[in-house]
Amino acid sequence: MVLTAILWGIAAATPSAAGASGATIPHRALWPDPINSPAEFDRASRAEILVFARELAESDALDEAALKNRPGVDAVDMASVERLRHKLWKLLTANYVLASRGCVANEAFCPGEIDPNNLRRVAEAFSGALVQPRYRPWFEDAVRFQRSYLDELVLLAAVFPHRNSEVETFNDNELTGWDLHDRQFLLSFDDGPTAGPRQEAPNAENTDRTLDMLRRNNINAVFFAIGKSFRMRLRDSSDEAMKTLYSGMCVGSHGWVHESHATSPQWQESVASSSKLLADNLPDSYVPAFRPPYGQRSPDSGPYLRSRGLRLILWNIDSHDWDDGLTADDVEARTMSLMLLWRRGFILFHDFFPRAQTVVPRLVSWLAHDGIAWADCHDINWTPRGP
Ligand SMILES: [Zn+2]
Repeated sequence: MVLTAILWGIAAATPSAAGASGATIPHRALWPDPINSPAEFDRASRAEILVFARELAESDALDEAALKNRPGVDAVDMASVERLRHKLWKLLTANYVLASRGCVANEAFCPGEIDPNNLRRVAEAFSGALVQPRYRPWFEDAVRFQRSYLDELVLLAAVFPHRNSEVETFNDNELTGWDLHDRQFLLSFDDGPTAGPRQEAPNAENTDRTLDMLRRNNINAVFFAIGKSFRMRLRDSSDEAMKTLYSGMCVGSHGWVHESHATSPQWQESVASSSKLLADNLPDSYVPAFRPPYGQRSPDSGPYLRSRGLRLILWNIDSHDWDDGLTADDVEARTMSLMLLWRRGFILFHDFFPRAQTVVPRLVSWLAHDGIAWADCHDINWTPRGP
């Protein structure tokens, strides 16, 4: 996630409010209500949607010259930025309608009259003055976070497709997570497997601990494994041990080595060799899915992946658990705010790093009564799409 890290660094405008990494983190404790029921989830969701939409309405005024002034942005693809804006308004409008279903008179953050076409107008008029006093500390903080998060997305779009990422897809064979049902989330873990027990490595057993944590919580996930790391772990253990390790989970490829599959001349070989290794050794867990490191893939990868029977999998919620400047609390807060905003999707975590081991159980218990469904990885349609 190096590219995102760079872009994030320049997007964070208020260092005093940022974590050590420069990432802006919401303070969820400022939300004054419990989130222990579907209605409470929806109220918090409406609130995040309105704040994000308000920032989007303001950001829509940034033209090419304004975007070019941002440090690190050498060229701006305005067509891509416009596509992002259009997509975001569509998603926000649909989500606001979903989050407003249970609205009753005088309920906070409900529209007076639900009119999907008016979300922009509602958002433009939405300000701290309209928010009940008890929500104002949250409001100021949410504005700061959502502005920074929107910057993150806009800057990813500004350099797309020159530097591509999860912000946009190239074809129907690429899946991001927007297609899940409302309140449905799939957990995904990248960059493993780490070294196993009794091995000398700073992150040894992170994959094992992540899997234990998921099983304790009765939940499954898709793992995108690095071929070279899998082969090393296989040599240090056995094929039976690897089958047992990933039992009940889904495992796809993250390439043979962790490098951009947009620029590597060997990207096809990387995909083919890692997929074959995983398919041969994990007949029950393997799924024909490829997640490119950093989300970076060759723009014309569609026909090749389809010919190999593979689907390309991105994400729409980046937990930032890869960011060494963030604590587990930070990662939890960011992920929660994005889950409230987007209401569905593929959440990017890493079994390579330890933070998800703390964050995921908290999310599971926090959302246990909110009508949240953790998608079963076996129910995802991994079958390739398109001609
Ligand atoms: Zn990765």
